[in-house]
Amino acid sequence: MEKRLTVALVAHDNMKRDLAEWVAWNGEKLIAHRLVCTGTTGRIVAETLMERRTTDTANTRFDITMLKSGPLGGDQQLGSMIANSEIDMLIFFWDPMSAQPHDVDVKALLRLATLYNVPTAINRSSADFLISSPLMAHDDYKPVIKDYKSYIERTLK
Ligand code: PGA
Repeated sequence: MEKRLTVALVAHDNMKRDLAEWVAWNGEKLIAHRLVCTGTTGRIVAETLMERRTTDTANTRFDITMLKSGPLGGDQQLGSMIANSEIDMLIFFWDPMSAQPHDVDVKALLRLATLYNVPTAINRSSADFLISSPLMAHDDYKPVIKDYKSYIERTLK
């Protein structure tokens, strides 16, 4: 039995088809975890999981939380959850070919994921590697969080 993690999923519009395919492929692994998604991504993830129910998983309920749509604050909500240590893993298929209206929010989300050492996948192959990592099931594994004490207590006068 896999350890239950909180996995955040986000995809920009041009990447949603990729994410849906990835979710379809990994549905059985994903439903063991708590999923948190930005709004539109969440709708697509939920639809994909419903369509892909097999006889084995037909009675398994999946746990999905949908935040606001990314450009309407969803990325920031996710960033806040990361800062509160509520996210164990981020799967973020961002679009390298289009400018986003909420580019600053995207950057902030990736910055916080890096700052808090959240395992992050930014495309399908890195998502494949992450979801199939043996560390997913490892109870003792906790990402090391850098100690920012000296920064917090720095003297400003
Ligand atoms: P969406 O947001 O899932 O609501 O489309 C994703 C994003 O652009 O951050």
